[in-house]
Amino acid sequence: MAAPSSPNDPATDPSIQELITARPWLKHDAQAGLLLDGVPLAAIADVVGTPTWVYSAATMRCRYRALATAMAEAGLDMQVHYAVKANDSRAVLAQFAAEGAGADVVSGGELLKARRAGIPASAIVYSGVGKSEQEMRLALSEDIGQINVESTEELEMLSALAGALGHTARVALRVNPDVDAGTNDKIATGRATDKFGIPYADAVALYARAASLPGVEPVGLATHIGSQILDLAPYRDAFARIAALVEALREHGLRVGTVDCGGGLGIGYRNEPTSSPAGLAAAMKGAFGGLDVRLIMEPGRWLVGPAGVLLASVVLVKQTRHEPFVVLDAAMNDLVRPAMYDAWHGIVPLSPVDAVTPVGPVTVVGPVCESGDTFARSRRLPPLAPNAHVAILDAGAYGVVMSSTYNARPLAAEAWVDDARWSVIRDRQPMEALWERERLPA
Ligand SMILES: *Cc1c(COP(=O)(O)O)cnc(C)c1O
Repeated sequence: MAAPSSPNDPATDPSIQELITARPWLKHDAQAGLLLDGVPLAAIADVVGTPTWVYSAATMRCRYRALATAMAEAGLDMQVHYAVKANDSRAVLAQFAAEGAGADVVSGGELLKARRAGIPASAIVYSGVGKSEQEMRLALSEDIGQINVESTEELEMLSALAGALGHTARVALRVNPDVDAGTNDKIATGRATDKFGIPYADAVALYARAASLPGVEPVGLATHIGSQILDLAPYRDAFARIAALVEALREHGLRVGTVDCGGGLGIGYRNEPTSSPAGLAAAMKGAFGGLDVRLIMEPGRWLVGPAGVLLASVVLVKQTRHEPFVVLDAAMNDLVRPAMYDAWHGIVPLSPVDAVTPVGPVTVVGPVCESGDTFARSRRLPPLAPNAHVAILDAGAYGVVMSSTYNARPLAAEAWVDDARWSVIRDRQPMEALWERERLPA
């Protein structure tokens, strides 16, 4: 029997044509090359330069509506809160606000960005293991919809602060259901050894304590088991445990009005099979359908990931005794996911691909001084000359938000495609910005 291939075995990579076919917002035009919603990406690269992030507004809208529809068709009382950390661009937030989405935020900065983009305070849920006193004050003064509490210590801190300010915060206890979502270690959050949430066994006692404390009103439970989850089984396990907890709390005479089911729905970076919103809705209905609770979900990646690409240019192709290195002008400081999570991203040339040209395996890297600055290994791509443009696919989530200026590389520009037109939504950071807030010591 052949040894099982590793999940990222280059021999099983989808072809460029397969990547494009699986993403209806992308098309290859024989003259104009790769199109995003009808807009030639080469035109954006030529005008704005590279590296540049480009987002399809229509793809984000379609995905939001598909998710909301799947929930409604399952008969669920569901409010979708977009997880702002996936992509906190003002244009993205404003569009989700216009669609009626709420927001899931994890910092004071995200809270303010969501408010400024037009998301009502009542539709904001605040998660995270380390909300500072200053951030709690902000959440209380904005009177946001719900604060998800992740520890006894945080509950006490919030109660004291809110009590002193004369506020009552609606809180949900984020419970760690101790399930393994089978995702990358760095983005699994629902195991007992992860830093997130309240241990399952402590939840009833802490909920009762919350009900007795001033300044806080427990309204429900929350859970979030991780990100890039491809399979529904861990969701079913987690939801069953949370549903059992709702019943246990009610047996203790405690009121539970809402369950926040978290985010985490994965996308097919490598064209791998994924779970559908309808499947997730069925899992939610199976667990919570009979419980008379209002549901919240917090998707990030699923809504915006596929809608974005990172445009880059080839600096040079370095020949070696092994695979050639295709060196791009984008790097790990722009898109860190390959370096951080061993993530696989499709890479597609923008110029019309010559289908008969043999494709050679190459290693695609950025110019940053780290061997981890590698976008792909043994990738089959057509020959790429200096200045050729490529699109790195599925870069709409955990892309620009994780960028840094490492190696003193300015933050890339961002562009928005909507209705067959495009515009810049963030200018490339000027070089001077790299040092303008620095000063020499006195
Ligand atoms: C990151 C996060 C999300 C969103 O996760 P995705 O995988 O992007 O859907 C939702 N809820 C919480 C609490 C998170 O930390």
